[in-house]
Amino acid sequence: MILAEERVAVCEYARRMSADGLVVGTSGNISARSGELVAVTPTGVDYACLRPQDIPVVALDGSTVDGELLPTSELPMHLAVYGRAEDPDGAPVRAVVHTHSVHATAVSTLVDEVPPVHYLLAVVGPSVRTARYATYGTTELAESMLAALEGRRGCLLANHGTITYGDTLGSAYHRAEQLEWVCRLWLLARSAGTPRLLPAAEIEHVVGKLRGYGQR
Ligand code: 13P
Ligand code: ZN
Repeated sequence: MILAEERVAVCEYARRMSADGLVVGTSGNISARSGELVAVTPTGVDYACLRPQDIPVVALDGSTVDGELLPTSELPMHLAVYGRAEDPDGAPVRAVVHTHSVHATAVSTLVDEVPPVHYLLAVVGPSVRTARYATYGTTELAESMLAALEGRRGCLLANHGTITYGDTLGSAYHRAEQLEWVCRLWLLARSAGTPRLLPAAEIEHVVGKLRGYGQR
């Protein structure tokens, strides 16, 4: 089976995305790139039923290379990230996670940028923009997403959800989780009062500090 490892990982993270409540039903989609090929969740299939051999493999032009099922309707967004997004540190872009996580989606209806209420915004930022709304699955959405991703590792999609990328599925997923958490925090703080925000320079500082975070 081609892209065996990536297909197994896409299945695992798709189930995890459901279990963690980042999506409901068949919402959201996930992909992982290896060389010139991309393993991506199929459109409209319950993640609980997914087997690695069900994961479509597509080329960077969107043509199907392996698998019986149709790829996600958001293939234009996934391929736009692989083709045109640039990690601010020059890291390879090898995985994309699109969620409808509820707090981040709520925030996408309220603001053009996620308010810097916590330093962990730096995991995706220095700031996180909201991409202009366009209908799901369109190249117009892929274009507005790319504009919002400039110099960032993720963004909100207005009245829709989130998208994050990484050099592994683990890092793209981690960014989706942290983005949801910061959005939830802001909504909670805002419902209780007027949250104190961090200066942009502090988030920039933490972006640098996080490069050395964790175990070597
Ligand atoms: P797919 O089932 O086609 O992946 O669509 C889900 C989605 O989130 C569309 O934006
Ligand atoms: Zn979606």
